This record gives sequence, structure tokens and C-alpha cells, in this order.
Amino acid sequence: MKVLTINCLSDNFSYIVINEKNNNACVIDPSEAPPIIDIIKKKKINLKYILNTHHHNDHVGGNLELKKKFNCNIFGFIGDKENIPGIDTFLNDKELYENDDFEFTTYHTPGHTLGHVIFHFHKNNFLFTGDTLFSLGCGRIFEGSHNQMFSSLKIIKKFSKDTMIYFGHEYTKNNSNFCLINDPNNIQLKNKIIKINQLLNVGQPTTPTSLEDELQSNIFLKTEKFETFKKLRDLKDNF
Ligand code: ZN
Ligand code: FE
Repeated sequence: MKVLTINCLSDNFSYIVINEKNNNACVIDPSEAPPIIDIIKKKKINLKYILNTHHHNDHVGGNLELKKKFNCNIFGFIGDKENIPGIDTFLNDKELYENDDFEFTTYHTPGHTLGHVIFHFHKNNFLFTGDTLFSLGCGRIFEGSHNQMFSSLKIIKKFSKDTMIYFGHEYTKNNSNFCLINDPNNIQLKNKIIKINQLLNVGQPTTPTSLEDELQSNIFLKTEKFETFKKLRDLKDNF
């Protein structure tokens, strides 16, 4: 199983997960179709499935065009079935989905939106977190409550430390500045920032990150107290 990262729009990441045995693939959060179509043609991939973490346009914008072109099956959370364009297959919280190509479990992580989900490909320990968790940050709270987002992050914290996290936006530089201001003596954070800068300086994305790094350096995961989390999330909105 291999993951390709596709830069979309101004700062979105879409991901193509490829079953290397047969080149069948799914795309997670296709923000727009053209860059996905480009890579599919170049690499001779069979795009069979689309998985959406949530209904925002920068995550589903390519759904209909890709479905029309490749006849793919679109998966989304049952609670978001009215909002996800072209949805065919409804997923439930903690449901394991298996077919000949892929196995993944869906987890409901409300907060950013009410129907937000994340996808865990357990065989490879890949976790696609959309706009719930970013490297050194977490999603803005649009539809849900701070309480919901805090609980959703707790779900992510329970995965094994070596879980690789593929997140929805390249916000890492700004997030790292926020973490550093609020956690100025964190050596692991400082080391992580050195690595982040090295990647960004050569035009590489900062995705994926590991859960271990995030537990050590992401202030939104480090915070155990709800009140502190809420205060930080509000501060970040105006950062
Ligand atoms: Zn979003
Ligand atoms: Fe987004």
C-alpha cells in the first residue's frame, strides 16, 4: 500500500492510496479534479473509490468530476449523506469496511463539522485526519462544540504512537509558531520545527507526521484540561 500526496488549491492535501498489487486506488478528499486526473493518467492508476472526511468544498470539490470520469464509488459518513456530492456508500462510526482492495475503519470525530470522520488503514497504520488534526494544530470549530473537538482529539490520541497521520492542510508553519509561543521550552517541538523548515525550504510538504511527534509537540494534543484546550483554540482563531 502506497500513499501519494497531491497538492490541491492553495494549501489542501488530497491523498491517493494505491493497492500496489493491482494499481487500484482510492482518493481521500479530492479538493479538485485536475491534479488528481493528471497523476492518475501519469501513473496508470485505476481510481475506484473516493473517501471524504467531511462536506466542505475544499474536500469534496472534485467528487462529481472524478465520479463521472472514472465511475468511482463515493464513501462518506452516514450523518453527512445530505451534504457530500455523489455519495454512494454510507459509513458508520467505528465501522470496518473491507473489500478486495482496501480495509479501513471510520471514526466519527465531530467538532470542525458535525459529520467529520477520519479513516484508519490499520494494516499500514495510516490515519487520514482531514480537518480534525493537523500537524501541530487542530481544525477550527465550525459546526460542533469545543467539547466535541476535545473528545475527538482524545480518540486520535489512543492510536499507537507509530501511526502516520495524513492531514488536510499545509498549515504547519503557522501552527508551529503558535505552539512555540505557548510552549517555548519544548525541545521536541524545536527539533520538529527544524525538520519542518528543512522540508518547506525545499518545497516539500510537511505531511505525514507521526502521532508520537504530535503527542510531544502539538499543544492541542498535549493539553489535558478542557478549559486550557478551549482557551488555546479561541486564541488560535485570531492568531
Ligand atoms: Zn473543512
Ligand atoms: Fe479544509
